Amino acid sequence: MMRRWQMMRVPLRALRRALRLRCPACGYGDLFAHGLRLNDTCPYCQSRFERTPGESLGGIYLTSVMTLLILIVGFVIFDLALDADASLFVAFWIGCVLVFNLFLYRTARALWIAISYLHGGVYPDPDYEREYYAPPEKHSHARQRSE
Ligand SMILES: [Zn+2]
Repeated sequence: MMRRWQMMRVPLRALRRALRLRCPACGYGDLFAHGLRLNDTCPYCQSRFERTPGESLGGIYLTSVMTLLILIVGFVIFDLALDADASLFVAFWIGCVLVFNLFLYRTARALWIAISYLHGGVYPDPDYEREYYAPPEKHSHARQRSE
């Protein structure tokens, strides 16, 4: 039982970091520079988030599927419970889909990057140079080496 839990630790940690929109490898760097702009590499550990451009856009598929499911459930509720006008319904749901996708966009990409990380696809470029020092409590050896 203990071993099983330990096997789940790395995936769970990566997913938790993704939900916080942080680098799945180190948990320190932000995935997004601002708004919807994805950083090329982690500002902290320099892990490259996408080996090929637009790789994590696969996350959009996840969002689309989730949106579709919610749409179907919503349709049934709307149709059965509320006897609303059809055009009102369509307008309402188009609005919902847009808002929903916009909110989920970053999370979906972050989750996709986390999945990619768990398959070994997120790591620093071989020639990277660290720009920042690690927090002293966890990586004190990095500081000593720089002297
Ligand atoms: Zn990182």
